Amino acid sequence: MLLRADLNVPLDQGVVADDTRIRASLPTIELLRDRGAGVVLVSHLGRPKGPDPELSMAPIGERLAELLGTEVKQAPAVVGDEVAALASALQPGEVLLLENSRFEPGETRNDPGLAEALASLAELYVNDAFGSAHRAHATTEGVAHHLPGYAGLLLEREVVELTAVRDDPERPLVIVLGGAKVSDKLGVIDRFLGFAEEILIGGAMCFSFFKTEGRDTGNSLVEEEGVESARRVLEESERSETILELPEDLIIGREFDARTERRELNGVDVPEGWMGLDVGSNTTANFGRRIAGAGTVFWNGPMGAFELEPFAVGTRAVAEAVAAAPGHTVVGGGDSVAALQSFGLAEAVDWLSTGGGASLELMEGRELPGVEALQDA
Ligand code: ADP
Ligand code: MG
Repeated sequence: MLLRADLNVPLDQGVVADDTRIRASLPTIELLRDRGAGVVLVSHLGRPKGPDPELSMAPIGERLAELLGTEVKQAPAVVGDEVAALASALQPGEVLLLENSRFEPGETRNDPGLAEALASLAELYVNDAFGSAHRAHATTEGVAHHLPGYAGLLLEREVVELTAVRDDPERPLVIVLGGAKVSDKLGVIDRFLGFAEEILIGGAMCFSFFKTEGRDTGNSLVEEEGVESARRVLEESERSETILELPEDLIIGREFDARTERRELNGVDVPEGWMGLDVGSNTTANFGRRIAGAGTVFWNGPMGAFELEPFAVGTRAVAEAVAAAPGHTVVGGGDSVAALQSFGLAEAVDWLSTGGGASLELMEGRELPGVEALQDA
């Protein structure tokens, strides 16, 4: 049994810094072991261009062994004779962790030879790596052409939860978007303009909208390529039933730095020499009311530069509103999920997606190659 999981976790000096994704993979690993499978486990880690000892799976194997309370054997490579011998010697309930799949250049190229070599390690393939399901790589897609492929528990739950929000939400549906760039979230805006009751926009992406409205943006982070898209979105929103809300006030600073001079701005015209780093209190009150009135909330992207403590206020307020909302709440996006966790609010949300890009692509209505390749898709 070959299990593709998403064990792509942050490392700090060779130690797992956040084991959320490892924990999220445990139910499927446990289920397969309980059913008597020897589990050959594979994941990518970071973005190596070839073998790189700094991105070895060894620390992940150690953490996984602690969480499972059992030995995790570590393979010296992704494929090859030695790996094949270890895989065929695997006893029921044992776990063998392959090396970082991106040590093989054929992984991202979805090389058929690599897919076949992976398939030769097992009789069945289970994909639980939702966070990588938007990529057609050898371990996420190619291998499923050579083995019967099934969805793991996490991948299945992600698809069910996100599809429910996308296609059959409890109304009103409120979409809250933030983060750095409009272009990252444009597909979601296009999908939900005319479908959601409300789209609330914060984060640096609002400056592309303000720019096209002819407002002063000072030194704010403005994605220039997003300005044209923002203009189109504003035009389309005029004609649609969806309410599109932008910030009405901001918190500004002189520089992207926690110690910078900080000022509350009544309005959104950013003066010369300043940058918008968070949304203001009227904005969070408005967004909070709308989130509280929602049947369903989908949130992706922080409201400001929340890594800087003085500019985390807006993101915290939205996180608290989402956590307290009586409606169904789903949060996706690496930074938004990290923000919720840092505020201790992760438990209060109905579904926290482990997939950043994958959850956005699913919400946009695009097919995910890693899901499409499975038998039960
Ligand atoms: P997610 O990972 O949740 O999808 P994004 O990656 O799209 O979120 O955006 C997160 C980044 O956006 C954070 O690093 C944050 O600092 C940045 N950001 C949000 N608002 C601002 C702002 N006003 N100015 C500068 N950076 C911002
Ligand atoms: Mg991010």
